[in-house]
Amino acid sequence: MTTHLEIKGLGKRFGQVDALADVNLTVRRGEFVCLLGPSGCGKTTLLRIIAGFEQADRGQLLLEGKSIDKLPPHKRDFGMVFQSLALFPHMTVAENIAYGMRLRGVARAQRRSRVEELLNVVHLPTIADRPVSALSGGQRQRVAIARALAVPPKLFLLDEPLSALDAQLRDSMQIELRQLQQKFGVTTVLVTHDQTEAMMLADRLVVMKQGRVQQNDAPTQVYNQPANAFVAEFIGAANMLPGRVCATGEVEVLGSRLRTWTTIAQGQAVTVALRSEDIRLCSSGKRTASSSAAADFIAGEIEFVRNLGPVSELIVRCQQERLRCVGSDAWFREAAVGQQVDVVIDPQRCSVFAAAA
Ligand code: ATP
Repeated sequence: MTTHLEIKGLGKRFGQVDALADVNLTVRRGEFVCLLGPSGCGKTTLLRIIAGFEQADRGQLLLEGKSIDKLPPHKRDFGMVFQSLALFPHMTVAENIAYGMRLRGVARAQRRSRVEELLNVVHLPTIADRPVSALSGGQRQRVAIARALAVPPKLFLLDEPLSALDAQLRDSMQIELRQLQQKFGVTTVLVTHDQTEAMMLADRLVVMKQGRVQQNDAPTQVYNQPANAFVAEFIGAANMLPGRVCATGEVEVLGSRLRTWTTIAQGQAVTVALRSEDIRLCSSGKRTASSSAAADFIAGEIEFVRNLGPVSELIVRCQQERLRCVGSDAWFREAAVGQQVDVVIDPQRCSVFAAAA
């Protein structure tokens, strides 16, 4: 895929805060990139600079190899879905969607058929003549997406476009948005703080913290090989356990020795990141031959049980640590507070990082 947007050495300071510090990023044509990170990490600032609403202090933006730093937002020909860009309240749905086409002198009949096409795509075929004031939040979000795509944009920018929706609508809109983006083949950058949403939508995830890119990779790569402890925790490792490298290729954690790959020197303190769903549990003394070959057992006691429908979540006290564990099988469903358990940690599922100084 060819490079579409190139961001080089971007920096932006607000007072004492480095909102962005030396951000470099390449977005390829047709790609769906998600900017992901906690509140205040700089993702909205980055999107606003790409859109032209904010000027960077340093660095460069290139679209198809040409600088766009001096180009005002309306001349960039980007489609945008931002909280601040509300629908025009005095217009109907169709007028909102057709607005950009009217400015460009597209003929009435062509405008009408494009509006119809887009309303079908966002699954709202019958609301063209309604005033936008008569729409639900979810319908408005979809109309805003249709409006942004009415004139095929050079870049499609979305800032938390699904944040106002309930879980069910959000879930179906994520699928719709991904299908839309693929159907139109439009290069897209979306901001979210929701890691599940980012995993679901993105070809590439850019994880940010304090104005800096922490990892820039395919979602599965970020999930399976997080670049550092921050990314591991942000992307869903609920257990961040203190440990120490006790020998080459061996880490001591929870009093047990795990054979796991690490280049960190012997004696160094480490953090072992482990997902809730990757911890295996069995009742004390019920070890099977096959599982005992895989790893050591660590004794623990169930402290808390929560049934979440498809899965159960447990908190298991293991020495000084409280492990969050999730499972969907009968054993998990029947687990009870006070039960003594053996904890199995598969070294293959652990990520090991140098402990923060
Ligand atoms: P959120 O998810 O909460 O929107 P974010 O990751 O999008 O957060 P930004 O909005 O980009 O983060 O903000 C990055 C940092 O810059 C924050 O510390 C924020 O307070 C600061 N900041 C952003 N815009 C301004 C501004 N106009 N004036 C002063 N500080 C700002």
